Amino acid sequence: MSATIIDGSAVAARLRAETAQDVEKMVAEHGVRPGLATVLIGDNPASQSYVRMKQKACAEVGIQSFGYDLPADTGQQEAEALVRELNANPAIHGILVQLPLPDHLKEEPILNAISLEKDVDGFHPVNIGRLAMKGRDPLFIPCTPYGVIVLLEEAGAKFDGANAVVLGRSNIVGLPTAMLLVHRNATVTICHSRTKDLPEVCRRADILVAAVGRAQMVKADWIKPGAIVIDVGTNRVDDPSAKRGYRLVGDVAFDEAKEVAGAITPVPGGVGPMTIAMLLRNTLRGAALTIGR
Ligand code: NDP
Repeated sequence: MSATIIDGSAVAARLRAETAQDVEKMVAEHGVRPGLATVLIGDNPASQSYVRMKQKACAEVGIQSFGYDLPADTGQQEAEALVRELNANPAIHGILVQLPLPDHLKEEPILNAISLEKDVDGFHPVNIGRLAMKGRDPLFIPCTPYGVIVLLEEAGAKFDGANAVVLGRSNIVGLPTAMLLVHRNATVTICHSRTKDLPEVCRRADILVAAVGRAQMVKADWIKPGAIVIDVGTNRVDDPSAKRGYRLVGDVAFDEAKEVAGAITPVPGGVGPMTIAMLLRNTLRGAALTIGR
């Protein structure tokens, strides 16, 4: 039987429409329009394009965006000083420092300088620490893991007692996703490049989240029949027939996997659109924190 395809684009569009309504409600009731500052350092074309997408998405839901584009040779002190300035600006409720930073800059002190209340990416160590602790909640949940959980809920996942396997242990996707699943009472296995017999571990998963960055690595026979599969991977593979010369595929061999899984996200159109939708949600939350909600 073919899996239900989890339509991330449709879910993200619905969330964005809800956010737009909530933004206008906040403006009408409290006179506060949420604002997001984007900090882009250097001229990495992919980063420039991500920042543009985020600014456009803000405009579409009525969130003000404030763009700070700094040259590639920006110094550490200067970058940290900008973050502190944005912390103090009451029109800004979320600060997003686009990663990766140029090599000479130290990422950790720059991210640590972001005020906890404006950490809409959810990467501040205190937010991640709270996520890791039982009975504590972070002020912000990192956007991609947050999107993964929303898609799992959308697919009707029963978290309590489920076996969940997360492929990947990065700070931005794998680890926080695993922690969110633990909070929901799943029994979680985190896999990485040293994990032995990955297919066997995956086959135990009622919920399988793939975030490794290896094109179509997860095959149909790694998947437990009926499992919910969330594919975070976004990989370019050469495709001479495509206009750009490549196409995007996930970490899961989608065509074969969909014949075994109960529900599965496509790439593109799965987790990707959710990340920005959750960033908008987090910015709205940042504004809500300033009015004591
Ligand atoms: P990282 O490279 O930071 O982490 C990859 C993880 O996968 C690591 O933990 C690594 O293990 C593990 N890994 C790599 N190869 C294997 C393997 N052969 N077997 C088992 N584990 C392996 O990547 P990210 O977490 O940043 O991103 C993962 C994917 O998600 C990428 O394709 C990225 O493009 C995509 N992504 C998509 C987003 C979206 O919005 N849709 C947002 C962010 C990322 P180890 O720790 O041992 O090295």
